[in-house]
Amino acid sequence: MKHYSELIELLRPQINMGPDPVTLHVDNAEEYGVYPNSIHTVKKAILFMVKGDGEDLLIVSNYDSGFAGWIKDGYVVCQLCKRNAATMRRICPFTKPVRVLGKERSFGVGDRLGIASEGHLAIFEKYDAYPVMAQQSIRELDLTNRTYEDVLDCVTWAAFKNDYRKGFGADGDHLKRAQDVKYALDLGYTMITLDCSEHIRNDVEALSDAQVAAQYTPNAQLEALYLGKKFDIGEGVVLEFGKEELMRDVLTYGEAIDFAVDIYNEFFVKGAADADFEMSIDETATPTTPLQHFFVASELIRRGVKPATIAPRFCGEFQKGVDYIGNLEQFDAEMQVHAVIARHFGYKISVHSGSDKFSVFPSVGKQTQGVFHVKTAGTNWLEAMKLVAMVDPSLYREIHAYALTAFHEATAYYHVTTDLNKVPALDTLTDAQLPELFNQNDARQLIHITYGLILNHKNPDGSFAFKDRLYKLWQQHRAEYNDLLMKHIGRHLDLLGVSKN
Ligand code: ZN
Repeated sequence: MKHYSELIELLRPQINMGPDPVTLHVDNAEEYGVYPNSIHTVKKAILFMVKGDGEDLLIVSNYDSGFAGWIKDGYVVCQLCKRNAATMRRICPFTKPVRVLGKERSFGVGDRLGIASEGHLAIFEKYDAYPVMAQQSIRELDLTNRTYEDVLDCVTWAAFKNDYRKGFGADGDHLKRAQDVKYALDLGYTMITLDCSEHIRNDVEALSDAQVAAQYTPNAQLEALYLGKKFDIGEGVVLEFGKEELMRDVLTYGEAIDFAVDIYNEFFVKGAADADFEMSIDETATPTTPLQHFFVASELIRRGVKPATIAPRFCGEFQKGVDYIGNLEQFDAEMQVHAVIARHFGYKISVHSGSDKFSVFPSVGKQTQGVFHVKTAGTNWLEAMKLVAMVDPSLYREIHAYALTAFHEATAYYHVTTDLNKVPALDTLTDAQLPELFNQNDARQLIHITYGLILNHKNPDGSFAFKDRLYKLWQQHRAEYNDLLMKHIGRHLDLLGVSKN
């Protein structure tokens, strides 16, 4: 292996004194043990990433570049730690998240494990859509023992290593409390998904008309705004509120709208956050009707909120890790009206739980006229587990057997209709058949919802039963994982009608 100091000497004539990072190309970068796309020069320094002993490292030619590390043979060896990630975002701004919801097509790819970023970046180099790379809910952070810093840092290093300059977003996903919104914004997250579900009343639908009338506080302003009006919002869509509907919508969504307005005022108006705001009303007991969607959007905007996206709950079921369950014709008809409402007000429709919803993607792409945000998350974990089934069948068998015992506990967190009796028994499958489990919905959901328990499961001596072995395997088979992601997320984008560059 050639020495890093030789590479630095070789590159010295090309050194860049300016503040904008310039990418350098070296034909035989691999002979130096250097990641070929990671070689950059900025502010008199040469920086590149190398494969260290068990971990990637950053090599910096200058001592005064701001990176922390130890000096060796005329350069600085830096770990990919929190502090150095923050310095990297300052020195190479393309490694910092930007707002992407204003782009026509944006696509969230949660990477719970911190191993998918490279594969994801390669996908979005190829497709005409912008990724939201860091996208984690507080629940996902808890289950994986990660922080928002970890999640963002992973993407920063991946962007640097691959010289990814197209831009990516970072989403504080499904945040429910002001303190969590503040936490994400302070770290530079560029999108806030406000989860208003705890402020949405799920019981109103079951109330009788008399009960609704008794609970409703007359509101002259709202009645003047909505009652007896025809809202002709174009494209053949005309919406009208009856008194009964208006009362029910106010009872159901009134508090959620107040909550969204408060958060927006605090952080986006007073705090002038440089981030996109999404209101999510998808985690409710019943689907959002187009009329309810219109009411929520109309009220938000009237009260000064500028949402970049709104996530209604669509008809049918969006269960984790499997295709859409429901009536496709009804979905298409309602999606058309949802999309017209969004176009009328000037924000995008956001589709949550978008992992593997292949049968509805053509409708989403068509009705939104190619202007949408789609979020996926768990499917990247499933592809990682499929890789395990492909390359280490005995480890997969161990984990699968454990997941069967943990399944019941995991259902506390997720709404799924998994039938474990339909999951083929492991001892009836040859090693070569194991990856086919990932074509079977019940097996997919079994592995999908038990991810936190699998990762955290401990041996009697306190060591992790699977986690360390899994990460080692994923590290060794990075290229195969990236290929799986390209194919799988690519299939999502193809069906949504996203073209390739
Ligand atoms: Zn959601």
